[in-house]
Amino acid sequence: MAVAFLSAQRSKDPSSQVGACIVNSENKIVGIGYNGMPNGCSDDVLPWARTAAHRLDTKYPYVCHAELNAIMNKNSADVKGCSMYVALFPCNECAKLIIQAGIKEVIFMSDKYHDTTEMTAARRMFDLAGIIYREFKPKCNKIIIDFDSINSRPSQKLL
Ligand SMILES: [Zn+2]
Repeated sequence: MAVAFLSAQRSKDPSSQVGACIVNSENKIVGIGYNGMPNGCSDDVLPWARTAAHRLDTKYPYVCHAELNAIMNKNSADVKGCSMYVALFPCNECAKLIIQAGIKEVIFMSDKYHDTTEMTAARRMFDLAGIIYREFKPKCNKIIIDFDSINSRPSQKLL
């Protein structure tokens, strides 16, 4: 889950940075993704707005969700039987991708859009397809990455 969150840091979405990480049955990472515009479609041209007079001027028709990118970025032949760690409970469009890709389990951090049509439809499809979904229970609430730590010597660490 921390890898999913770290991947999300690369998203240019100013309002919602979401990451996903797919692991196989041996818990080895086979795909990572975050929400972003399609390849070759410049962030400087397409909008990141959540609201606009016209839907074409919002991010929604264009943005690729983290789940889609994680599946498309897979470094294995397929992701059948894999589990996906994802920051947010998947929307209905990503639920379809997850099911069709053969992913068997979804572990999510937040379900803040639980009552929306998209998430309700996602749960409905997951239930029918026999996909397991469960909330992630972290052992700690924070991981701090300190790039300088590699430069400290063992003796210094003891101080
Ligand atoms: Zn989605």
